Amino acid sequence: MTTLSAKLQAVRARIADAAQLYGRDPVAIQLLAVSKGWPAAALRELAATGQKAFGESYVQEALGKIDELRDLPIEWHFIGALQANKTRLVAESFDWVHSVDELRVAQRLSAQRPATKPGLSVCLQVNISGEASKGGVSPAALLPLARAVAALPGIRLRGLMAIPAATNDFAEQRRAFRRLGELCQRLRADGLSLDCLSMGMSHDLEAAIAEGATLLRVGTAIFGERR
Ligand SMILES: *Cc1c(COP(=O)(O)O)cnc(C)c1O
Repeated sequence: MTTLSAKLQAVRARIADAAQLYGRDPVAIQLLAVSKGWPAAALRELAATGQKAFGESYVQEALGKIDELRDLPIEWHFIGALQANKTRLVAESFDWVHSVDELRVAQRLSAQRPATKPGLSVCLQVNISGEASKGGVSPAALLPLARAVAALPGIRLRGLMAIPAATNDFAEQRRAFRRLGELCQRLRADGLSLDCLSMGMSHDLEAAIAEGATLLRVGTAIFGERR
């Protein structure tokens, strides 16, 4: 077994352990392999072991890999900061976007999604820790944005995403993820049908699983430190 597939297997084991510990069905927790900075060959190797979903942060870098790997049934997730002038490329080439935080961007994705493709799956990014340096809609502005995005054609509002402030304190990690879960419940109570909580990365995926994550975005623990 290669180092890469061994690391992927180790991450899958962490997910299974945490799911068992916190009473979650592991089938309901999807693993997104965050492959930014890594060459198409590495993705191909993981795809051969059954990994289907890959996450990318930079549009141009991703388009090269999408083209190179078009013979594989990969599900492509855009997770990076999305500038309005890049929305067309994302709407045309990706299956998911996790980082929508303003209506203008969602409207462009909606208008630019090719009619021949299924709706683009969208998560709204929430700035859960209130960090000025981070993207994401504030919790206070989330509900009106979610209502407006859910009404757009060509995209499907699937849920929420967050990148909480980095901490090694497990209880603190859980508190931040719990807030995102509560916001998701509030939107559901408002009538939105959401099935995705995109939260948890290499260092905090156990806390995210404990708080109901349905999709983990994991890079370093699979691929190693980014160069
Ligand atoms: C890079 C990145 C990740 C992966 O982080 P790791 O710590 O490498 O697991 C997850 N989410 C987003 C939005 C990222 O940009």
